[in-house]
Amino acid sequence: AVVGARVELADLPLREDLRGSTPYGAPQLDVPVRLNTNENPYPPPPELVADVTRAAAEAAAQLHRYPDRDAVALRADLAGYLAASTGVPLTVANVWAANGSNEILQQILQAFGGPGRTALGFEPSYSMHPIIAAGTRTEWAPAPRRADFSLDTAAAAALLAERRPDITFVTSPNNPTGQSIPPVELRELVAAAPGIVVVDEAYAEFSGRPSAVTLLDEFADRLIVTRTMSKAFAFAGGRLGYLAAAPAVVDALQLVRLPYHLSALTQAAARAALRHADATLGSVAALVAERNRVVESLAGLGFEVVPSDANFVLFGRFEDARAAWQGYLDHGVLIRDVGIAGHLRVTVGTPDENDAFLAASKEISR
Ligand code: PMP
Repeated sequence: AVVGARVELADLPLREDLRGSTPYGAPQLDVPVRLNTNENPYPPPPELVADVTRAAAEAAAQLHRYPDRDAVALRADLAGYLAASTGVPLTVANVWAANGSNEILQQILQAFGGPGRTALGFEPSYSMHPIIAAGTRTEWAPAPRRADFSLDTAAAAALLAERRPDITFVTSPNNPTGQSIPPVELRELVAAAPGIVVVDEAYAEFSGRPSAVTLLDEFADRLIVTRTMSKAFAFAGGRLGYLAAAPAVVDALQLVRLPYHLSALTQAAARAALRHADATLGSVAALVAERNRVVESLAGLGFEVVPSDANFVLFGRFEDARAAWQGYLDHGVLIRDVGIAGHLRVTVGTPDENDAFLAASKEISR
């Protein structure tokens, strides 16, 4: 018998507002084709693996000491990458890093949300936004998208002016629907928002549109752009997320971050991976081409496909999305039921994986 198993969750003095909720997470199943969590399907190249290994060995020799609490070298590298890719001269003072962008989002809500405060997001979007809001006891205000999942920015701006949320989430490209927001419309939204605006750019590298980082100087008092190395950088297992904002925002997050939250191993591995950014990001163009092939093939099979600017595609319509999800699984293809009626989301994989997915789609569309 498992020690302590006689006590059940219901027996514990859990916070009332957490009772009955379920943990976030997609099934981690051992199937041949896994296209359910928007990772980069290409493993890191051997040179990167060797560099990470060397860096980890060096860090291991110093593991009796706490890591650099401010992760200065890593933040400087990240600032360099963002500055080069956006043309905005960001420095270490503009960047903060944590264990995945989820931790970044949590720190933002800890600092700027909390009891008595409200966070607003345009749904459907990344479902961790309301979950992290709940965890920090920030009231969640869901706001609508159009029926085709695009964002009506004029209506959204009006809503922000009226509701006055403390934090507004804008996901661009949006997960799980795929569309991104044109810079002019984004500007209009940020200008209308009375509080903090988090532009979640987890999938920015796959998008053809400019980053919200270009708006940072103008909206230094409110704009935070979050990024991750989990997607285009092929570093999901390394857990490294970051943000770009005004230095004062980075100062604010120091008040809630745990000391030494980023291990010496994580910092060293992420820096080594960043040195190979050209190689890992080299897969982005191939993935975008494959995304376009998947979109066209699905449309050719008679599916409705939501336009995507990311490395995943939302498609339908299924009478019973849950049953269709199981149908794919029976073909050895794991995709994602994101809880949108009639729709499923597939991550773009390698050409072989996409072929397997499309072959299964053909069977399922019959
Ligand atoms: N934001 C969005 C929109 C995402 O889709 C994800 C990953 N599913 C994340 C943030 C968090 O990613 P990570 O914590 O791995 O950086």
